[in-house]
Amino acid sequence: MIQLFHVSKFFKRCTALHNITLQIDKGECVLLTGPSGAGKSTLLKLIFGAEIPDEGQILVQNRNIARLREADIPYLRRTMGFVLQNFKLLPKKTVFENVALPLIIQGVSTTESKKRVREVLKAVGMAHKHTIQTGVLSAGEQQRVCIARAIVNDPIILLADEPTGNLDKALTSEIVELFKTINARGTTVLLATHNQTVVEEMNGRVIHLQAGRMVSDKGPME
Ligand code: ADP
Repeated sequence: MIQLFHVSKFFKRCTALHNITLQIDKGECVLLTGPSGAGKSTLLKLIFGAEIPDEGQILVQNRNIARLREADIPYLRRTMGFVLQNFKLLPKKTVFENVALPLIIQGVSTTESKKRVREVLKAVGMAHKHTIQTGVLSAGEQQRVCIARAIVNDPIILLADEPTGNLDKALTSEIVELFKTINARGTTVLLATHNQTVVEEMNGRVIHLQAGRMVSDKGPME
């Protein structure tokens, strides 16, 4: 599903990732942990094709990300959802419109879009607020909408970068439950966090990064 071979990524003043070799199988739940600046976001962006590795190879669903033509990247991204900490929702648009956006971009028919948006909003517990502008929602609600938007395409891989960063403990647990449900349905989940509660509650494989290096890789607790 996702394979990295000796991947390094350098920025001007630092090595964001150093010699990462890693395989993630279909349906796995992986927590990327490590302090701020460890390279977690960079790793997610590389898998999403938003950054290109300086060394090594990355295969996502057997396709070499670095060798993809620019024109092919959107097709690959349609198989992935990406949830960010700071939402990036359109605040003046309604919940429904925000979630429908990826489908509109892909040219999915209105009837089909409506059906899919209704389904995912129900799954994240936001169906009753579909006509509300996202700008007036609480942080927890906004994050639910983001997750709905990330899964509306039925992605094979769901990437999340500190998805509970803005949330209190109770909301964090709710969002964790949502990720667990999505993973239980077969979606591969790769979640970057430095929140220990999230790591414990998700109980997945834990990959720990430090200063761009992979320092441990442990399976879930039995
Ligand atoms: P984390 O997500 O674990 O906090 P990041 O992947 O964001 O870590 O960053 C890893 C390192 O790479 C940090 O030192 C960060 O400053 C650096 N970095 C990340 N993105 C860029 C960029 N676009 N330009 C320059 N340096 C960057």
